[in-house]
Amino acid sequence: MSRPITLFTGQWADLSLDALAEMAAGWGYDGLELGCWGDHFEVDKALSDDGYCQSRQDILAKHGLKVWAISNHLVGQAVCDVIDERHKAILPPRVWGDGKGEKVQERAAQEMIDTAKAAAHQAGIKMVTCPTIASNDSPTSSFTVWYDEEGNCTGFESWGRNPDLVLVDTQVIAEGPVEAFVAGMGDALGTWVEAEACHKARAMNLAGGAATMAAMAIARLCYDVLMAHGADAKRAVEKHVVTPAVEKVVEANVLLSGLGFESGGVATAHMIANCLPSFPECHHLMHGHEVGFGVISQLCLDEDVSAAERNAIVDFEIAVGLPVTFADLGLEGVARDRLKTIGDICASEGSLCENHPFEVTSASVIDAIIAADALGRERKKLADVC
Ligand SMILES: [Zn+2]
Repeated sequence: MSRPITLFTGQWADLSLDALAEMAAGWGYDGLELGCWGDHFEVDKALSDDGYCQSRQDILAKHGLKVWAISNHLVGQAVCDVIDERHKAILPPRVWGDGKGEKVQERAAQEMIDTAKAAAHQAGIKMVTCPTIASNDSPTSSFTVWYDEEGNCTGFESWGRNPDLVLVDTQVIAEGPVEAFVAGMGDALGTWVEAEACHKARAMNLAGGAATMAAMAIARLCYDVLMAHGADAKRAVEKHVVTPAVEKVVEANVLLSGLGFESGGVATAHMIANCLPSFPECHHLMHGHEVGFGVISQLCLDEDVSAAERNAIVDFEIAVGLPVTFADLGLEGVARDRLKTIGDICASEGSLCENHPFEVTSASVIDAIIAADALGRERKKLADVC
């Protein structure tokens, strides 16, 4: 057999994989191209259940079949489609979520990355990620972040391996939404701020080890690139042009941030960011927007941070359009009581907020968040962009 003859299972999603495999084997096929429909290949199960991929392999093996490809056309279609009600019928509820256009597209893009990670895991093969937006560092990361159907973050876990190649066409990124590019800067901004906090606390990085000098240098470079070139890059992306600043910031958003956070560690900025999706008012935000506000909150929590450094970071966020106030988040006038849910999660055992060289309490997190909003409002007034 020089070339396997396979059947794509998408058109047969009403049949169980077992039933279809039996039929395909009878028809003489060598294997199946599994569609992410029905029970043929369920991405969420592949990601969460260690035995799931082997169970699919076992069903195929029972009928003398193999798998060489996994397809996720329906979710893939939602990455660039203009989203309307018809998509609800073809998308998993976790991707459809609230049905808001760009958020559906973002979740669909993330699901495609996760599908590739699951497929690589299933087959033990190399993986290439090719992001079309630079809205976070997931294309480089070994991690998948889990959200429920309401958009609440329910946790994150590693696949134990990173993509073998991260392939980015910066012209494609520059043609994409500016909002997504800016969100990527917010995610990347957390990398140094959080790695430095972890380093001071001698906290473990995401791989369970100590950060190396190389990891800290990468995290710092990520920060320096953003601060030096972020505003220029945003202006260029607004015009859909690729300048040296765009090239540098894309590398920071996708590569440096991914390497830096996994190898350096994360702390309060991401912990707060992961809590914000539980507020319905924040559902319009991307992960990186939430990290951007989390960074300011973390800076307001840490007495080692100088006012000049804090102000410079807030001013940068204002310049590129990241959220720096409750109003920017959609939470104008939010009561302290509602913020308590964030404080309590941040102060709970096992929280990323343990990665600081000082104790973090629920009250101190709430105070820092309120201080961040006040600081953001003040710096916006000074920048005259209210
Ligand atoms: Zn992140």
